Amino acid sequence: MSKTAEYLNLSTSIDANFQSSLTAADALELLKAGNQRFLSQAPNARERSALLEGAAKGQAPYAAVLGCIDSRAPIEEIFDAQIGDLFVARVAGNTVNGDILGSIEYACKYAGSKLVLVLGHSSCGAVKGAYAALKDGNLTGLLERIEPAVAPVREANGDNPSDEAIDTCVANNVRLVCDRIKQESDILAGLAADGSIAIVGGVYNVATGEVDFTVYS
Ligand SMILES: [Zn+2]
Repeated sequence: MSKTAEYLNLSTSIDANFQSSLTAADALELLKAGNQRFLSQAPNARERSALLEGAAKGQAPYAAVLGCIDSRAPIEEIFDAQIGDLFVARVAGNTVNGDILGSIEYACKYAGSKLVLVLGHSSCGAVKGAYAALKDGNLTGLLERIEPAVAPVREANGDNPSDEAIDTCVANNVRLVCDRIKQESDILAGLAADGSIAIVGGVYNVATGEVDFTVYS
């Protein structure tokens, strides 16, 4: 039986036994299958009371997802995830700082998650703000972290970017964040190097609901 089939047969939240049976590739398959259920409007129905009963015993999420705060990209929903399935960190532009890295380190090293997904999305306002070099309050520092992803695209496309140019920036940003996770976290780089986890990048399309998982692997 595939891990997705096993997952769909669970009656309660996932536990450490199920989590420890997964590889990083299995965790990625679970996310892909979840996005397909979301797209086909065939959600996994589990009793809320059973999920809460399982959750009360502890957590063993299979993946950690770093997404944007954008209201159109709700992480659990687009992966048809249940209580206890995912660690989710959300910050404008799905970028990293020490707190986000520490959170993902906790998820993978101490709580056993097998996969880190950095998820950008189409029409990202943070990426557009970085492209426009917006400077305002605490946004200034946040958007500066996205600047390396937009600078070469701005150089080539000028001040009025097409949707395609912004898409390029979004994908660049996802790749940059994946690289930075490895560069700035010895813990996560080590787990990725020995195959305990994988760090992958995707982009969610806010118009179609589909996740493109081919952005970084
Ligand atoms: Zn965004």
